[in-house]
Amino acid sequence: MNQPDRDSLAAPGPLLLEPDAVLLPEGPADGWAVVIGDGRFETVGPAHELKRTHPHLTPVRLPGHLLMPGFVDAHHHLTQSFGAALAFGEPSEIFRRVWVPLEGALDEEAAYTAAKLAALEALRGGFTTVTDAGTRADVDVDVVASAARDAGIRCVLGLVCNDAEGEADQPAVLEKAEKHLARYAGDPLVHASLAVSIPEAATEGTLRATARLAAEAGAVVQIHVNEHLAGVERSLVRHGLRPLEHLHRIGALGPQLLAAHATLLTPHELTLLADTGTAVSYNPVASAWKGNAVAPAVAMAERGIRFGLGTDGTRGDGFRLAEAAEFAQRLAYGIGIGDSSCGAGWTWLEHAHRGGADAVGLGARTGTIAQGMAADFLLVDVDTPELALSWDLPWELVRRGNRDQITAVFVAGRLRLWQGAPTDWDGPALVRRAAELARAAVGRADVSRVHPTSTAARALHQAREWSTPQ
Ligand SMILES: [Zn+2]
Repeated sequence: MNQPDRDSLAAPGPLLLEPDAVLLPEGPADGWAVVIGDGRFETVGPAHELKRTHPHLTPVRLPGHLLMPGFVDAHHHLTQSFGAALAFGEPSEIFRRVWVPLEGALDEEAAYTAAKLAALEALRGGFTTVTDAGTRADVDVDVVASAARDAGIRCVLGLVCNDAEGEADQPAVLEKAEKHLARYAGDPLVHASLAVSIPEAATEGTLRATARLAAEAGAVVQIHVNEHLAGVERSLVRHGLRPLEHLHRIGALGPQLLAAHATLLTPHELTLLADTGTAVSYNPVASAWKGNAVAPAVAMAERGIRFGLGTDGTRGDGFRLAEAAEFAQRLAYGIGIGDSSCGAGWTWLEHAHRGGADAVGLGARTGTIAQGMAADFLLVDVDTPELALSWDLPWELVRRGNRDQITAVFVAGRLRLWQGAPTDWDGPALVRRAAELARAAVGRADVSRVHPTSTAARALHQAREWSTPQ
C-alpha cells in the first residue's frame, strides 16, 4: 500500500535504502538499512549507523517494505516456456514426448524469445537467479545467455554434454564443455554450468570428465537423477545400481553435482549425498504435477544435505514455490508421523534463496543480504491486509506471501522490475511476439500427448455420465 519513489530507486548508485526491515539469515532485522554500489551490498547494518557513516547519501525511505533476498530457482528449462500446459495431466517422462520435440522446433528467434519470456515470468515471481538445465534446441547456448542478460536476470547456464546414443563423440563434447566454462568468466549475470540430461545420456568417461572440469572451474554439473520410477528401474536393469549409486561408483558425485529432483532416495542414497557434499534441487511443484514421489527435504535438511528449490519450469513464482516446498513435505511426510513443525517455516524460505544459491554454485555471490554479496533483492510490501498483523514474518512469507506484494526486483544492484513490469525494456511486446512464435513452434513440433485438454476432458466426462445405463 506504501509506494516508494521509483525514480529514486532507478537512479545510478550508490543508494542508501531504508526499509522497515531487512531479512537476514537469522531473521528480520527491524530498522536496518543497506548501501548498494557497483552491483553489490557495500554495507548492511542499523539505519542510524549507515546514515551517520554515509552522510553524503540521501536515504531512500521504503515504508511498509521488507528488503529480502531474491529467490533462486535451482532448476529451470528456460526454452520450454512456450508449452508449460502441454504437460498437464501427462504421465511421467514427458521430456520424450513433449519437451524434446518442442525444443527441437525452436529456431534462434524462438529460443531467444522463449528464454526471455521465462526470465520475465521468473522476475515477476521474485526470482533474481534462474538455473537453466541446458537447452536441447539446436541453437548456440549463447542465445539463452543473451535472453537472460537482456531480461536482467542472473542465470546459471547449463551446456548439454550428452554423448551416449551417438549424439556426439566424447572429445568434441569435452572441448565444447571447456570452452563453455571459460566463455562467461567475469560476466556479471551469466555463470557457466555443464549438464547431462539423465545419467544414461552420457558415457561413463564423460560423466567423470564433466565432474572434473566443473569442479576445477568452480561450476556445477546438472543431472536429472532418481526422478521417475522408470529411470530408476532402467538404471537397475543396466547397471545393477540405482542412478545415484551408479554416479557414485564412477566418481561423479561431489559438491560440483547438482542433482535435479532426487525424489526416489533410499536411506543409503541419502548417506551418499550427505557424505559427498552433492547438492539437490528439490522441485515440489514438479512432483505434484508429474512426479512419482516427493524428495525427502526435511530429512535432507536434518542430515545437512545441500539443497535449493527449483520450479522445473512449472511456474515462475517464488512465494508459491516456497509454500509448495512446505506443503509437499507435510502431505508426503509430516502428516503421517505427526510432525506439525515440518521445517518450521524458515527452512523453506532459506532454501528458496541462500540454500539455492549454494546448491547452484553461487553461495559466495548471491542469496544473502550481506556486505560484499551481489545486490540481488526484492522490496516486498508487507503492509497488506494479509501480512500487516504480523506475528512470525518468515513463516508468514512462506504461507501467505504473494507476488503481488513485490514492488521492486533488483539484480546486481539495478532496478529490473517495478510492480511486475520491466523498467528498461518492453515486456508486453515480448509477450505478444512469444504468443505468435509459440503457436508456430508447437504447430511444427511432433509433440505427442496422452491427456486431453481440460475442456475436452470435461466433455468426455459428461459423455460418460450421460451414457450410464439408468
Ligand atoms: Zn528438469
